[in-house]
Amino acid sequence: MGDSSPGHFVVAVDGPSGSGKSSASRGAARALGLRYLDTGAMYRALTWWLMDAPADTADEALVASLAAKPVIEVGTDPDDPWTRVNGTDVSRDIRTREVSAQVSAVARIPAVRRHLIEQQRAIIAAAVGGIVAEGRDIGTVVAPDAPLKVFLTAASGARAQRRAAEQGAAVDVTEADQARRDRLDAAQSAKAADAVLIDATDLTLAEVIDEIVGLAGERRPLASAGDKSS
Ligand code: C5P
Repeated sequence: MGDSSPGHFVVAVDGPSGSGKSSASRGAARALGLRYLDTGAMYRALTWWLMDAPADTADEALVASLAAKPVIEVGTDPDDPWTRVNGTDVSRDIRTREVSAQVSAVARIPAVRRHLIEQQRAIIAAAVGGIVAEGRDIGTVVAPDAPLKVFLTAASGARAQRRAAEQGAAVDVTEADQARRDRLDAAQSAKAADAVLIDATDLTLAEVIDEIVGLAGERRPLASAGDKSS
């Protein structure tokens, strides 16, 4: 898979929404001099494009047939992780509550996952030096050979508070949206058996980043020496 070849270090960060995954992954990528991939942005971009068309996101067969139509591109600079659909920057548009409400239904469709996972693997393989890739299934499906896998979680209330603060929304509404999305995402959100669990409930962002960077310091020399087979 090329996930662990010498000089190409892959960190998989998975976990539910609001766990602080994106900020922690970007911060760790920056500190480690790696690229950054937000796979959730790709599912959001496809969902945004379907809603904009408009196409019924509840129509599985239709969504499956359209999954490969839009050109979805993501920037992998941790300081500027943009998202484009057919050349248009949609970095902000994909973060709306409307897109968040529909993205899980789109992401559950096997043809959608196959298509986007293929693109994600290509982005990971092409990342010079390596990459921190975040999502739900990076450690289990997208990059199962990654030498470092982190599963970042936090108590439901803490996650809702973080999300609500980011979006300027009410905590109770955010927590209800979050619970619904957790349920719909459950099938593709398992922790890899060999992932390190980090509970961010009582940690600051800087502490989470430090922990990931520390783990990377332990694993990277091994990966670079090519000690990890296959
Ligand atoms: O991480 P974020 O909340 O932006 O992800 C949006 C949605 O994309 C998730 O709720 C999930 O439905 C889907 N997703 C996924 N697999 C990933 C990343 C995200 O199914 N690797």
